[in-house]
Amino acid sequence: MFDVVTGGAGFIGSHLVDALVKQGDDVLVIDSLVAGQKEHIAGHLESGRARLVQCDLLDEGWQDSLNGADRVWHLAADPDVRQSAMTPDPTFRNNIVATYRVLEAMRASNVTELVFTSTSTVYGNAAVIPTVEDYSPLEPVSVYGASKLACEALISAYCHSFGMRSWQFRFANIIGARSGHGVITDFVRKLRENPEELEILGDGKQTKSYLEVSECIQAMQFTIAHASAPVNTVNIGSEDWIDVKTIADVVVEEMQLKNVHYCYTGGALGWVGDVPKMQLAIARLKALGWKPQKGSRESIRIAVQAAVRGA
Ligand code: NAD
Repeated sequence: MFDVVTGGAGFIGSHLVDALVKQGDDVLVIDSLVAGQKEHIAGHLESGRARLVQCDLLDEGWQDSLNGADRVWHLAADPDVRQSAMTPDPTFRNNIVATYRVLEAMRASNVTELVFTSTSTVYGNAAVIPTVEDYSPLEPVSVYGASKLACEALISAYCHSFGMRSWQFRFANIIGARSGHGVITDFVRKLRENPEELEILGDGKQTKSYLEVSECIQAMQFTIAHASAPVNTVNIGSEDWIDVKTIADVVVEEMQLKNVHYCYTGGALGWVGDVPKMQLAIARLKALGWKPQKGSRESIRIAVQAAVRGA
């Protein structure tokens, strides 16, 4: 099997590359390294099990590398929800335009299978929680969420128009070693700078669902093996949730700090475009035969331990 992984040097992408190499696949990573790190996949590059095309998807020159591929895993994106409200243009280009370029390159190279990493933020502030894939209306509240929903629509149209098949995964918060963004990274960084005080965005009561990255990779691989509609849209997350203040407590405990003063910026939202309550219904995933082994709390502790170790 020949897999192309865009964003394969990033957090989730590099864990995916580990799994694909482990199952014996030939892997080509396309990554600009704007956020990803070559070190994450260095072992596979040295062993020759994976190759890297260092290139921005918005540029020319990488398209021919899709020739002969069996499947494209399109993970490259600008994942910064908060920043997308301040400067929407990078989100628009790196998410929507780049996805269009990937689809066009696939069409030119006759590659028919696409895996796309979408997000819970396509649901916006859903009135029904846990939120099912069929929930409507889909009203994203962040430019990031809107960009991913636009990508899903484009991918659906390409599948139905050009004989492609896609798996579109709507992720809860995915956490674990190598993550370079998100609440845990933010807390660990701030506490290293000042171990006496922690700024918490919002009121600390935002409650969301978290899944450890290894389980996320397993869920994707399992779904691909068991769902074969032209467009397969599936939520991936854990079956519980945890609030931000509790995450702060875990980080403080794992960093062995005492008497840290929490300083809340206030309000129900951490930032413009934040979704303060998020949990995904995973009945579709479970009906296929996969369910997570760990809940949000256990996943958070594993990810915090990795972040504190600097992994
Ligand atoms: P990440 O930033 O670690 O990985 C993204 C990778 O894409 C990086 O390696 C970056 O260098 C690369 N990249 C970005 N723009 C590019 C471009 N124009 N051309 C080539 N390479 C480019 O982020 P991640 O957390 O690993 O996210 C991976 C995917 O999963 C993204 O599509 C993200 O939107 C999605 N997702 C992540 C989460 C999460 O909780 N981490 C949740 C929902 C969805």
